[in-house]
Order: sequence, then C-alpha cells, then structure tokens
Amino acid sequence: MALTDLFEKKTVFSLEVFPPHTQVGIENLSKTLVDLKQIKPDFISVTLGAGGMAKSEDTIKVADFIQNDLQIPAVAHVPGLYQSKAKVTRLLDDLVAHDVKNVLVLRGDAIEGEIPVGEFNHANDLATFIKEYGAFDIAGACYPQVHLESASTVDDIRYLKKKVDAGVTHLITQLFFDNTHFYNFKERLELADIQVPVEAGIMPCTNKKQIERIAQVSGIEIPKKFASILSRYENKPEAMRDAGIAFAVDQIVDLVSSGVDGIHLYTMNNAENAKRIWAATHSLFEDAATEKLIAH
Ligand code: FAD
Repeated sequence: MALTDLFEKKTVFSLEVFPPHTQVGIENLSKTLVDLKQIKPDFISVTLGAGGMAKSEDTIKVADFIQNDLQIPAVAHVPGLYQSKAKVTRLLDDLVAHDVKNVLVLRGDAIEGEIPVGEFNHANDLATFIKEYGAFDIAGACYPQVHLESASTVDDIRYLKKKVDAGVTHLITQLFFDNTHFYNFKERLELADIQVPVEAGIMPCTNKKQIERIAQVSGIEIPKKFASILSRYENKPEAMRDAGIAFAVDQIVDLVSSGVDGIHLYTMNNAENAKRIWAATHSLFEDAATEKLIAH
C-alpha cells in the first residue's frame, strides 16, 4: 500500500532518525531501530545532509535495514540543492534496488562557501523530477511558522502549493511547540485548496541548548510555558527529560483529538523517549483508527 493511502485508514504515527557516519554509530542505530520496532511505527524516515550525497550510502544503508530487515516502510530524505540530475538518478536507482519506494523531497539548507548545482533550486523541481522517474511515493516539508526565507505567508503557501502540484502527496511539518501555529497553518492550507495529508512534526525536547539552537536557526517560537520548563530544569537532566516528554505528549493528545492526519516524531535516535511517548498515547491512535473504520 502506498504510504499516502495509510492516512485514509488511520492517524499515522511515524519516526525520523539520522544516520551516524561511523560503523559503530550505524550498529548502535540498528539496535535502536530494533527497539523502535516494538512501537509499530507506520514508517521511519532517514535524513540526508544537504551537502552530503557522499554520505547517501549511510542513508541508504539505514533505510535498507528499516525496509528489509525490520519490514517497516522506510522514507529516504533527498535534498536537491547541491545535486545534479545524474547524482539524484543514481540515488533513486540505488533506493529502488533496495526496495525503498518512499522519498521526502527537500531543497536543503544553503552551505556557506558551496555553490548550488542549479538543477534543483527548490523542492518542487525535485518533486517534478522524481515524479517523472516514477516508482516513488513523494513527501515534502512544510512550515507552520512559515519558512524563514519566505517573503510572506502568502508566498510560503503559494510555493507549497507548487510543490504539492509537482507531485508531493503528503507533507511533514517542521517541529513546533505551540499547536496554535499548526491549526492556523491548516486554515491557510484549506484556503489554498492544498488537500494532501499533513503530519505534525513533534520533537520531545530533553536538552535546553540543543532546542535553543534549533529554534534560532529555524525561526521556531519557544512559548512562555515551554521556556519556563527549559530554564527550571536545564541542569536537571532527569526532570528535563520527564518535562520534555510530558510536553510532547500534551501536544500529541491535543493534535490527535483534534483530528490530525499524523504525528511524525523527531526521535534524535533516542528509542527510550519515543517508547515513552508511544506508551502514553497509543490508545488515542487506536481510537482514531477505529473511528475511521466506522466512518468508511
Ligand atoms: P523549498 O520547498 O524549496 O522552500 C524553501 C524556500 O523557498 C521557502 O521559503 C519557499 O517558500 C521558497 N520556495 C519554494 N519553492 C520556490 C520556487 N519555486 N520559487 C521561489 N521560491 C520558492 N534538510 C536536509 O538537508 N536534510 C534532511 O534530511 C532534512 N530533513 C527535513 C525534514 C523535514 C520534515 C523538514 C521540515 C525539514 C528538513 N530539512 C532537511 C531542512 C530543509 O532542507 C530546510 O528547511 C530548507 O531550508 C528548505 O527545504 P524545503 O524542501 O522546504 O525547501
């Protein structure tokens, strides 16, 4: 079944991991992934750094393990800014050879001192190219708080529509800590007649410095409620972890009960946190699946 079709049957629960670049790191990630299989994610996506087609082997290795050893659908991230059509074609050929049939198309972030190839200046160019290649279910990224480089909210949605029209059949949001941003974003999608399923990207935050860095580079707001948690527990790792997980659970409860299409958990390769979140929320996903079954 194509991943996109899953959304008709259930509220999707998916995970994201990143590939370490050492053999030991990959082996550790394999153990983490085996652990994560217990929580039955609908798919697991694997990142690939924008400048890193040289590292695409690691992404393929991890995606292959997920798809073929664990029998969980794998989604390979493909950033296009620094890639030629020939390189992307080779990557797609490799993915097909490993039976990985899902990709997340991305532009990727600009890297200082590196000149973009110019063949995939935006994610929509890559979506068009991969759609023509065939064989793939194509997901794309979106930004409830508006992409940092968008000149306006209108432009942000205009180009998102272009990406969807080019062949993206499912969207995953950047992480956010205030669900109001997500609900406002969904309203903008509705006005623009963007009808593909949208998964909410949620990251359990267990480290103040890490989250402040992410928030700064990606323009994510840290709401007051969350800032208080960060400053109170920044030097108390166990309490910070409990609070970060509870905050993520709270977001998920609100989103699932409001009918979100799916939750995409940025795991940061931490199985324990993901398992705790699943333990606290799995009955909500089961309830949503039952409701969809009755509605059909
Ligand atoms: P685009 O869709 O191309 O949009 C980028 C900007 O350009 C936006 O402001 C948009 O409005 C504008 N724009 C879009 N199309 C056009 C057009 N045709 N003409 C003019 N302007 C346009 N990065 C990685 O390097 N590797 C990863 O694995 C990775 N995974 C990610 C996963 C998710 C779920 C998310 C949300 C982001 C991820 N990123 C990753 C980061 C992403 O690469 C950056 O956010 C990047 O800055 C934008 O990528 P995009 O695909 O959204 O770009």
